[in-house]
Amino acid sequence: MTFVVTDNCIKCKYTDCVEVCPVDAFHEGPNFLVINPDECIDCTLCEPECPINAIYPEDDVPAGQEGFVALNAELSRDWPVITERKDALPDAKEWEGRPGKLDQLQR
Ligand code: SF4
Ligand code: SF4
Repeated sequence: MTFVVTDNCIKCKYTDCVEVCPVDAFHEGPNFLVINPDECIDCTLCEPECPINAIYPEDDVPAGQEGFVALNAELSRDWPVITERKDALPDAKEWEGRPGKLDQLQR
């Protein structure tokens, strides 16, 4: 199994999650993070760190967001690893909790 970053992270990217990961499984894109399923060891540490509940176990991804499982695997092959917290995106608060942000995803 793996953990998966889902829709709510898009355009927020608070990055609180990355520092707790013992295997450096997080990868960073312009306005979203993903988890590399080949690195994730299912330790569960990152899930409660996300202030906006964007991280789920693969088997528990919310209905309609199943595509994020494959998307995390795909984008983690291209994006660099991130291990240190940084400031959230400037308009993160404005986008927090808005449903269906996939069309805002920058690759
Ligand atoms: S803490 Fe949540 S919003 Fe922030 S980068 Fe991680 S998954 Fe995205
Ligand atoms: S569950 Fe653990 S290993 Fe997997 S991404 Fe989260 S912190 Fe990293």
